[in-house]
Amino acid sequence: QRSKRAHGRLQEVVVGDEPTTPGRLNLSIELNAALSQKQFELYYQPIVAADTREVVAFEALVRWRHPTRGIVTPIAFIPTAEETGLIVPIGAWAMREAALQTAAWTRAAGKPVWVSVNISAAQLSEPGFLEHVAQVIAETGVDPTLLKLEVTEGTIIGDPELAAEILTGLRDLGIRLCMDDFGTGYSNLSYLQTLPFDFLKVDRAFVKSMIDRFESRTILRTMMALAQQLELEVVAEGVESPEQADELARLGCHFLQGFLYGKPMPADLAGALVMGTP
Ligand code: C2E
Ligand code: MG
Ligand code: MG
Ligand code: MG
Repeated sequence: QRSKRAHGRLQEVVVGDEPTTPGRLNLSIELNAALSQKQFELYYQPIVAADTREVVAFEALVRWRHPTRGIVTPIAFIPTAEETGLIVPIGAWAMREAALQTAAWTRAAGKPVWVSVNISAAQLSEPGFLEHVAQVIAETGVDPTLLKLEVTEGTIIGDPELAAEILTGLRDLGIRLCMDDFGTGYSNLSYLQTLPFDFLKVDRAFVKSMIDRFESRTILRTMMALAQQLELEVVAEGVESPEQADELARLGCHFLQGFLYGKPMPADLAGALVMGTP
């Protein structure tokens, strides 16, 4: 039995004014319907180069356009999707959609635009995952080096050997890999040493406190030094103020992502940003 994350707790859905909080069973039935009725959408959050502050990339973040509740955040349904295995078809859809968008933006902008997609443990451990990714690359015509997959330490820890095998396979396909939410999980540094990561994304908890807490700046500086030694590029998430952005750039961070540069937004708005039109 290959690793599958089990949270062992019911997920509550708290969205807008909706007073009911359907349990996991209801939610999983609804998620199934949502998938077949094409209610999922990808929003894209801009990522800028720290030196020029130009948009060079996006992180694709799934949204559920619920017929009555409006836009539902992934925090409300990804845990249940992971527990029920529905994250596998949802994630497969997200990757194909993001690959098509990456190829389209890169063609239209006349310059490379890369896109990050989040991957769950259940996807990585799904038999045939590498073949599926290869098929997405072939069918969408995306340049695989522009597709970036984000995984957290939590995804790796369930079965590090399997994760190593799959991540290496992805790297061999040309896909680039990012360690997401770094510093808040297990912070098992051996993963950085042994797994073929290209990027380190420092968790927004450190960014949030970096102006007030010298300890956070020290941790960030240490992560930058580590990344530099291991030849990893660093992305900071949760950048909300110009002070944070300037300090992160000064510390040697390569890419910045956060509300300062834009919230996750529909593809047409994101496309306008990278095309340089208003
Ligand atoms: P994540 O991968 O760490 O994504 C970053 C989250 O931080 C996003 O939340 C984003 O909206 C939020 N964020 C970005 N900038 C700022 C900022 O400046 N301030 C604050 N306070 N927050 C910021 P979102 O879109 O709600 O996604 C939450 C999580 O859901 C993601 O965390 C990711 O773990 C998961 N997720 C989203 N889409 C997918 C998907 O397609 N597949 C999988 N497996 N997980 C997904
Ligand atoms: Mg992410
Ligand atoms: Mg993150
Ligand atoms: Mg996060």
